[in-house]
Amino acid sequence: MSADTFREDLHRVADWVAEYRENVASRPVLSRTQPGEIARALPDAAPDDPESLDTIIRDLDDILLPGITHWTHPRFFAYFPANNSEPSILAELVTAAMGAQCMSWQTSPSATELEHVVLGWLGDLLGLPDGFEGVIQDTASSATLVSILMARERATGGRFRTQGAGAEGADKLRVYASEEAHSSVEKAVFLSGIGSDNLRRIPVTDDLAMDPDALDDAIRADRDAGLVPCAVVATVGTTSTLAVDPVEQIGHVCKEHGVFLHVDAAFAGSLAALPEMRWLMDGVKLADSFVMNPHKWMYVNFDCSAHWVRDVELLLQTCAIEPEYLKTARDDDVRNYRDWGIPLGRRFRALKLWWVLRSFGADGIRARLRKALTLAEGLEDRVRNDPDLEVVTPGRLGLVCFRPVREALGPAILDHVNNSGEADITHTKIDGRFTLRWHTAQGLTTEEDVDTGWAALRRAIDAASHE
Ligand SMILES: *Cc1c(COP(=O)(O)O)cnc(C)c1O
Repeated sequence: MSADTFREDLHRVADWVAEYRENVASRPVLSRTQPGEIARALPDAAPDDPESLDTIIRDLDDILLPGITHWTHPRFFAYFPANNSEPSILAELVTAAMGAQCMSWQTSPSATELEHVVLGWLGDLLGLPDGFEGVIQDTASSATLVSILMARERATGGRFRTQGAGAEGADKLRVYASEEAHSSVEKAVFLSGIGSDNLRRIPVTDDLAMDPDALDDAIRADRDAGLVPCAVVATVGTTSTLAVDPVEQIGHVCKEHGVFLHVDAAFAGSLAALPEMRWLMDGVKLADSFVMNPHKWMYVNFDCSAHWVRDVELLLQTCAIEPEYLKTARDDDVRNYRDWGIPLGRRFRALKLWWVLRSFGADGIRARLRKALTLAEGLEDRVRNDPDLEVVTPGRLGLVCFRPVREALGPAILDHVNNSGEADITHTKIDGRFTLRWHTAQGLTTEEDVDTGWAALRRAIDAASHE
């Protein structure tokens, strides 16, 4: 491709991107495509001859876009926010252009040093206590797995790495998380070889947060039985309801028993940038590791998960490996982030985080977070004032959980809202009861979008009531 053609094509794609973002609100939020429909519309094999940008964009528009659920849509109220923003999109383009593989300092010193610096900025913004060192992982799932692997190595004196399940004590390891913890915790426990039967689900109190006394009891009982309590995962903002475990009390329990504490703040962690929400970091000073996702609620494109650990030596003992062909003369003087996680290859993820933090500034980030919280409080009021609905968990952290008074209508209401194309919400179960969830944390969401979504919800309630 000639340089001139590439430049023209770039401009065309730039226009496509700008138009997509400008018009995303006019598309149905949730894709209504049936399984297999997209695959059937695509050719069976790659073309033999080159195809033009025109035909590629035509198929992008005609075949693929209808199969996209628009996560950046201002009425995407489902799951959790997975945001991007204009600065993040620009940075991703630049990242792609450089195509750098940032496994080692040597393979792009700027990537390594920017990652270190920008995680320092982010830690300061969130009020992360001193003594942590950060690394960007692809996802919180990977960060949590790495933390569990660190805890496993600590509890087996580094022997699991070499001896596997045969290491002394390996069959006695136990991990603790609340009943409301994210599925990535259980996944980490089975992938680490500890085994999901050895994950203790600690009951929650009325606020759906881990009961620290029940944790203490469980750890004591296991120790008395000759088992090896190895890690606790506390959640700051559960995915289901944004419940916040009492990390400070959990941290004291962990200290007393010498258990590794990982804090999962994947969803809600960004809110700690607000002084009025700084309490979310209470007790994190007692943790061994902490994860939050800029790709969820800090306006950074997926993927970008910020993972901080206290004991870098332990992290390296857990993950580092140094084949001859990767050795460089500088290895003793630099960070080689390939040794700080699971994959060898690494994207230049720090660039988009840096770009966003600079473009918005801390105050810009805080203003966006506050907007989301204000919208959620307004939504909570509407639910509270609607005779057909009841609030299950309040909107103080940007997510409202609620259910219809006629509880059996829940699934039908959900379907009607999502089929309307006007909005996308999701559900969870709380105490075994079907519950709707609606967050207001997408970057583009405005008061009018909440109005429009509310109208769709009201129509859905009426339709479901008359079925
Ligand atoms: C979303 C979420 C995760 C998983 O995040 P990924 O980055 O997709 O792996 C983990 N924990 C909590 C609390 C979450 O909300």
